[in-house]
Amino acid sequence: MKQESTREGLDTTPVTVLKGVGPRNAERLAGIGVQTVQDVLFHLPLRYQDRTRITPMGALRAGDQAVVEGVVETAEIRIGRRRSLLVWLADGSGGIVLRFFHFSAAQKANLSRGVWLRCFGEIRSGPSSLELVHPEYKPVAEGDPSEVEESLTPIYPSTEGMHQLAWRNMTEQALSLLQERPEALPEWLPDDLLRRFRLPELGNAVRYLHRPPPDASQQVLLEGRHPAQRRLAFEELLAHQLSLRALRLQQQRATAPVLAGSGRLRRQLLQQLSFPLTGAQQRVVGEIECDLARDRPMMRLVQGDVGSGKTVVSAMAVLQALESEHQAALMAPTELLAEQHLQSFRAWFEPLGLEVGWLTSRHKGRARQQLLAALAEGRMPLVVGTHALFQEDVAFHNLGLVIIDEQHRFGVHQRMALREKGAEGRGVPHQLIMTATPIPRTLAMTAYADLDVSVIDELPPGRIPVSTVVIPDLRRDEVMERVRVACSQERQAYWVCTLIEESEVLQCQAAEDTATMLAEALPDLQVGLVHGRLKAVEKEQMMQRFKQGELQLLVATTVIEVGVDVPNASLMIIENPERLGLAQLHQLRGRVGRGGTESHCVLMYHQPLSGNARERLAVMRETSDGFIIAQKDLELRGPGEVLGTRQTGEMQFRIADLMRDQSLLPEVQQAADMLLQRYPERVQPLMRRWIGAKERYINA
Ligand code: ADP
Ligand code: MG
Repeated sequence: MKQESTREGLDTTPVTVLKGVGPRNAERLAGIGVQTVQDVLFHLPLRYQDRTRITPMGALRAGDQAVVEGVVETAEIRIGRRRSLLVWLADGSGGIVLRFFHFSAAQKANLSRGVWLRCFGEIRSGPSSLELVHPEYKPVAEGDPSEVEESLTPIYPSTEGMHQLAWRNMTEQALSLLQERPEALPEWLPDDLLRRFRLPELGNAVRYLHRPPPDASQQVLLEGRHPAQRRLAFEELLAHQLSLRALRLQQQRATAPVLAGSGRLRRQLLQQLSFPLTGAQQRVVGEIECDLARDRPMMRLVQGDVGSGKTVVSAMAVLQALESEHQAALMAPTELLAEQHLQSFRAWFEPLGLEVGWLTSRHKGRARQQLLAALAEGRMPLVVGTHALFQEDVAFHNLGLVIIDEQHRFGVHQRMALREKGAEGRGVPHQLIMTATPIPRTLAMTAYADLDVSVIDELPPGRIPVSTVVIPDLRRDEVMERVRVACSQERQAYWVCTLIEESEVLQCQAAEDTATMLAEALPDLQVGLVHGRLKAVEKEQMMQRFKQGELQLLVATTVIEVGVDVPNASLMIIENPERLGLAQLHQLRGRVGRGGTESHCVLMYHQPLSGNARERLAVMRETSDGFIIAQKDLELRGPGEVLGTRQTGEMQFRIADLMRDQSLLPEVQQAADMLLQRYPERVQPLMRRWIGAKERYINA
């Protein structure tokens, strides 16, 4: 150690106490979030190499990673397609060839007949025998038994400029600090909890994972199934669970306006609708009603598959707030989706004599000022918009309810920010979050432990499932003919162009080209175009014309992914569906099948398809059940994508992997209960250990 090891815990001991970690390396390490000795200990190997024993050459198989030791029989330079140095090595049980493409004269001289070498590398099958290409090697004395490794050799995930040797060196030092002062990495999980869930102690788990004994199963480690790995994942998931519960408690300590409502407006809306609510909608409306009538802020997530009718459920909640003389705000992640809501709400609310405000980042100048004034003075009861609603100058007179649609695109932090819009001293508004991403239960418990969950698990009656076909784009002509036929029968169709690159401009260009091509090829049809670069009014006009049936074919980018509601549209073509995730395809396809006629979806892919893409498209063809699709999506893409948290950086774990460790989640719940009841003093330190700075706002 460079200095007297400090008396502090390893969580506050900077990496710079380790030998070999100067300012340059400290900076590199900070880049991947490694700042303390504890971080070094939690930086676990990706995989391991077995250098603990010497394998007899006769027992080698191609694909093994092995240490071999033998004597050089001959060495020669071959001038073939590539100049290479070949060295024949033998150990009595067999022989092997070392092959070097880059080598110096000195190197060649040292590899002469009679020299004993110990080598490590991956065994490959060569033209005449097994080979090691560019192995690590060093000369040894004949039969020298020393210096095989005592444990499996860890291979760490790294960053530019940090070599494996540096990592081994750092972890070695960190482990000896831990050895000297085990109390510097405290065990926060009580003994009875460890016993009950059969978890090893923290220090032992860490030591094991950095230096597994020779008999450790590499397979088990690679798959993350070793008890030592599960122990660490368990602790991390537990800390996460505790922090969400703390967040929830904090929210529940706040007061919220009681929005009991008279029921007058809600009755009027129900009378005016052309359909009765489904049983599931009624149940969820009832759950929300109870929440709003309490003086604690509602934090409720409504999950419902595409087309299950979440919008009208949210309208009922809004009316309850309005009946109680409070304002409501509804926020959607895209402008188009927000516009769609605006239209639904205006259609429902205008007959009730209620005005609906509209706010996006495009609203500027006088109109915006007028709206802001109306909101601040309480003259505008409901505002619909995008994240522009978060902006600082947006103030309400008495905001009672915030509704967020398609929650998976917003993070916890944004959720928190809208809450702050509640007027001073009058409590925080109630929150309703709606998502069409069905999340498997165990995952929901983890991702949304701070929310109550309602599920609309029933589609409105009379929906006919969309039939889906998967065909190559070589058959584009047939597909166009199909569009022509459908549209000549008074039906309407979408033609969706997907992202070519991470470039909106290119995507819009592709949609424009496709629209031009289709308009020429199908002269009898009125073809419209919507994409992200159109002005809001242009988009709205286009959508209106499509909705009113003036346009039969709408070419669109994936901006129509969510929320667009045109029941007469019964055919959807999706170009290059292989570029999209399952959840997105499911959302898109949910735009058709909303009316009484049978609808079709054509997934027109471009060959060749990867195995994974083939599997995704097959899932789409076989099912329209959002839960099955979500489960598959989770398997194929992982939870970060499914929950939409990859971009926000939430739900990213250091060690746990929600997919791999799903089976731990029920036990983690129990452990959280146990800790909160019996060991409340351990909760804070556990959360502090695992929850990153970005979530530090939780101050339970
Ligand atoms: P989503 O849950 O995907 O947001 P929407 O709220 O957009 O679904 O509803 C989809 C369509 O179903 C809309 O046209 C809506 O008017 C209609 N709808 C909603 N509830 C019912 C119901 N109970 N019976 C019939 N149609 C309904
Ligand atoms: Mg919706």
